Amino acid sequence: MVQVEPITTARVLRGPFDYLRPDGVEVGARLVVPFGHRDVVGVVTGLASESVHELVAPRRVIEPSLPAELVELAFWIAREYCSTPARALSLLMPAPGMRAKTALYAQATGAAAGEPSLNERQRALLASLPRFCGPDTAALRRLEARGLAALAPRVVRRAPEHLQVGARRPVPSLTAAQGAAVAAVLSAGPGEQLLLHGVTGSGKTEVYLRAAAEVLARGQTVMILVPEIGLTPQIVSRFLNRFGDTVAVLHSKLSAGERYDEWIRLRTGEARICVGPRSAVLSPMTDLGLVVVDEEHDASYKHEGDPRYDARLVAERRAHAGVLVAGSATPRPESVSRLRRLRLAQRVDGQGLPPIEVVDMREADGLLHPRTHEALVDARKAIVLLNRRGWSNFLTCRSCGRAWECPNCDVTLVLHRAQGGLACHHCGHRERVPARCDACGSVSIGRHGTGTERLADELATGHQVLRLDADTRDPAAMLARFEATPRAVLVGTQMVAKGHDFPDVDLGVVVDADSTLRFPDFRAEERTFALVAQLAGRAGRGAGGGRVLVQTLDPDAAAIRFAAHHDSDGFLRGELERRELLRYPPFSTLIRVVCSSDARDAPGAALAAAEALRARLGSTAMGPAPLFRLRGRERSQVVVKAGDRHAAIAQVGAAVDEVAALREHRAASFSVDVDPQ
Ligand SMILES: [Zn+2]
Ligand SMILES: [Zn+2]
Repeated sequence: MVQVEPITTARVLRGPFDYLRPDGVEVGARLVVPFGHRDVVGVVTGLASESVHELVAPRRVIEPSLPAELVELAFWIAREYCSTPARALSLLMPAPGMRAKTALYAQATGAAAGEPSLNERQRALLASLPRFCGPDTAALRRLEARGLAALAPRVVRRAPEHLQVGARRPVPSLTAAQGAAVAAVLSAGPGEQLLLHGVTGSGKTEVYLRAAAEVLARGQTVMILVPEIGLTPQIVSRFLNRFGDTVAVLHSKLSAGERYDEWIRLRTGEARICVGPRSAVLSPMTDLGLVVVDEEHDASYKHEGDPRYDARLVAERRAHAGVLVAGSATPRPESVSRLRRLRLAQRVDGQGLPPIEVVDMREADGLLHPRTHEALVDARKAIVLLNRRGWSNFLTCRSCGRAWECPNCDVTLVLHRAQGGLACHHCGHRERVPARCDACGSVSIGRHGTGTERLADELATGHQVLRLDADTRDPAAMLARFEATPRAVLVGTQMVAKGHDFPDVDLGVVVDADSTLRFPDFRAEERTFALVAQLAGRAGRGAGGGRVLVQTLDPDAAAIRFAAHHDSDGFLRGELERRELLRYPPFSTLIRVVCSSDARDAPGAALAAAEALRARLGSTAMGPAPLFRLRGRERSQVVVKAGDRHAAIAQVGAAVDEVAALREHRAASFSVDVDPQ
């Protein structure tokens, strides 16, 4: 018999359930099984010899299966992130209902090739074989009838197209530091974990490429995780150029068919390198010799749905028999304290890092300092970062003071002028730009704060301006345009600070650098440092050098001072001291539970559930603390700060199950986040 976990999102239905074992079925097989009154897809999670129940047979087997090690991974994810095996397994499956695409393929049989009755067109057709029939199917069918050709369906690969960004370059020779890093990766023992801490422009990607080539030559496979494919097309291009079709690329813009085909290529071993964002860590590869997490500081590695897994931790798990390499110019304190560090202290082109000037905005009027305006006039190519999108952050009535807020969330609506509307950045609610105040009828409406749309508009009078933020439909195309334009200013949110490599950017500007510091979060310093250092890393990569201006209201903030001196060691040392003192990660594990309830149907239910939870968790828990209303739901959170990670996860999981099962808390929902970002 087989033990089958049905793939359902219901938390109460926990498998596995027993079924008869079809011939040849092993752990990882996907089956359609009768379950209650319907048929569901399930995964075989175990084999056993006998069962006390009378067993039914599965309806059918779905090919291909999951690798057995992915089943084990699903159970680990479920435990580590307080979720269920079924939910974890559902993330590991290929798109449901997809199958391989086939088309008719014709081959010459070789019979009577010189037959005199063939006309010229038919001879040409025969000479063009073997190939897919395409529009010549009818003509080829006639040749098949005469025994001259054989037609049969064959699988057609739905290959994704990739935009070429960044110049194709010859394989560069390695610097001494790169060579040492490659050697260290290749000589690392199974399960070893390394941190490649290299300044921006120090050639980390080339280290990955060289190590990958050697690991492939050893007969093993390679996984390369990147923050967001749309924003980092350059690294994808470099892997495709170096390794060709053995690279499978997984990302959210693929069609369902393309995604399925790439999944199959990885499962069968036809593709042996996988490049992709967070979810690629779950791809069906076996025998991984190298797992790379590039830009390991990036917050996008955390998954925001249940299970709330962190791809960086999952990557460590997947690399258990190979080597894990996490790379960054601004590594997380967690990684610095845990992984063996390799350094790339110099840029590959021998250029120094660009000088960073902190511009004090306390006395300045307007959004940009006069010095910034001057620098923009002198620059050939500039990148300007302002981490707020839209035109202005909020609107108020000048007569009665009313502010325009989202009806579903306790936040103000952001004006997007080009779209002619106000938008909530949390729930997506949209409404028209108001002509008058509906509270008092006044037509005098104030627009406050500046976002990327307005800044781009202001700069457009003197510069060629391109904008990159979440409103940009095709980020990769926008980056390609910026690359092709000889003189331009790229204005955008933190998206402009991701790992782009344009050699002729000679100015970087951070506007309102302390805005990220004002978030009440223990990672605020880390984020601010990374944002400034990463943006600085985009500038001065070419022969002309470059400079960076950082505008701030808080020029003495440690994160900004260390970033201005390119001193990541100093920053990390101070940050680790501070965290140890306050017992924040990596000196503890944080677990956050958010209780929520419908603000209209069950007001107060979220807070009551959070209080019940807090009472069960005792003194290790903090809260409940109210969060702003989101999507029409009241929210309240409890945070646990624990020394013993696994005990705390188990304790929180049990407490949530207990409270969720109580009648008086049935209106509340619970979301558990281990290692919240
Ligand atoms: Zn008013
Ligand atoms: Zn909203």
